[in-house]
Amino acid sequence: MEPKKRISIAGYIRVSRLKQAKMGSSLPEQRREIETYARAHGYKIHQIYADGGVSGALSDRPALMRMKADARNALFQKVVFTYLDRFGRSATDTLANYTYFEELGITLHSIREGLDTGTYLGRFIRTILAGAAEMERERIGERLACGIAARLQKGLGFKPYPFGYIWNEEKGKLEYHPDQKNTYERIVDDYLIRNKSASRIAASLNLSGVKSVKGKKWTCTSIIYILKNPTYKGRISHNFLGKKYDLEFPALIEADRWDKIQRRMAERRIPRFASVPENDPYILRNLVQCGECGYAIFPYSIKSKGKIRRYYVCRLGHMNPALRLIANTNKTCFLPSIKAKELEDVVLNGIQEFLTRPASVLQLHEPPSAAMGGTHGKIGKYYSDLGHLETKRDAIWDLFNEGVIGKEELIRGDNAIKDLINELKREIIRLKEERALFKARKKEFDEMTESEAAQKELCKKIKEAIEGFSTNELRGLLRAALGGARLKVRIIRRRDLSEGEEGRSTEAMDEPVADPNRRVRNGYLWMVEGTDALDMKAAGQYLRAVKGIAMLPNQYIS
Ligand SMILES: [Zn+2]
Repeated sequence: MEPKKRISIAGYIRVSRLKQAKMGSSLPEQRREIETYARAHGYKIHQIYADGGVSGALSDRPALMRMKADARNALFQKVVFTYLDRFGRSATDTLANYTYFEELGITLHSIREGLDTGTYLGRFIRTILAGAAEMERERIGERLACGIAARLQKGLGFKPYPFGYIWNEEKGKLEYHPDQKNTYERIVDDYLIRNKSASRIAASLNLSGVKSVKGKKWTCTSIIYILKNPTYKGRISHNFLGKKYDLEFPALIEADRWDKIQRRMAERRIPRFASVPENDPYILRNLVQCGECGYAIFPYSIKSKGKIRRYYVCRLGHMNPALRLIANTNKTCFLPSIKAKELEDVVLNGIQEFLTRPASVLQLHEPPSAAMGGTHGKIGKYYSDLGHLETKRDAIWDLFNEGVIGKEELIRGDNAIKDLINELKREIIRLKEERALFKARKKEFDEMTESEAAQKELCKKIKEAIEGFSTNELRGLLRAALGGARLKVRIIRRRDLSEGEEGRSTEAMDEPVADPNRRVRNGYLWMVEGTDALDMKAAGQYLRAVKGIAMLPNQYIS
């Protein structure tokens, strides 16, 4: 007997962002239920499509999309899900999904509701259920919204309450926390009157053993957070579902004092590029950042045996104990100190390598316009104008010889025409020079595109120019290429350190280092991130501006 061909099904499971109280609603539970169902009916499971964590009311469901696409390829004959409300975000949506699959001859089955669209009863019930599902969904949203609105209505705001306040259960309102109130006032006075920085305030609070809101140590960030928090002015506004709720708290600071703090903070903000000393050997100063901890990477020199050794180091990794106390951090960073020359070479070589590659030279080289800027046509027109003027000049002389005009008129007219003629002649010379330049450029470009030797010649010129750059010029080139961005230096940890750690590249130390951006130092492998995003167009423009190298980048980046 020939075995009966098994029906192939697709399972669809989904959880929404709102945790639902319904039993058996987690993804594994839904999956198990579908598997049991398939076994009981002798169905073959083609695939179980899972949409997790995305609320059906908010966004498209990628797995559902995939299932729809697979349905078009007839990969299954039936779609099974546990509850109807797993299957659509509203009655309309559910019905649209139904129709989609029905038109492909695929039936739908909801296990818990015992609903099968293959039957007449199923088709009837599905409309009612789809409507019901939407009502249920609305109720969930409503309940949540009611809860939030009720809190706002009562003037409660949200937990955790700001530092400095405590919730009085009996009176049902926020009150000052006596100790924390004093601390807040101390922070404000330290900042405004004693002119301390946020990190110094944190350090001094920690030294006096004052605890922060969760009993933790103070940090620069937590101080700034508190200084920026407008709640202390005694009022905060929430916009919720189109309604504005003003929550009142007992104020801890007068509005104009709070504003003064904000102004001072804005003033203290460090400019993006601090000024750089002239001929500073550290061309990457202010241009690199630690990819491990996010702190700046700064130049660091050591004098030994009369020689100066230059390094780049992570500010956090090389913080001395006193600074660490002030910054109030126990964190550290393992980014090794990197020999300045090595890091600079990695970055510069990347740029130089690109700019001196014949292929990129061609990409950056602008073809001169075919019409040579219209110079040719203009020259012809000016020559004919010149002819007209000469004729006019002759005519004036004729008029004088015939006694029609006097000597004075002759001189005035002759001079005026002479001026015009001279002006035209000058213009013609200028245009001819321009045309010659165009021709030379065209010739150069044609040679460049045809001759590899010429490309190499230009590459050599660029290479020499970069090598002859002063440190200031190198920094200029880098800044142009970086366009305000910063490069990041990252560690690629040793394999023995990184095993079991997620989201980190691993590479064995003894593997050969093929990528020039990756170097080994102090037992760590480091690499520069962001060199691939350098703007070579801008770098080329800088070269042209500084060294006059005729490389007009125009089409490198699409
Ligand atoms: Zn670091």
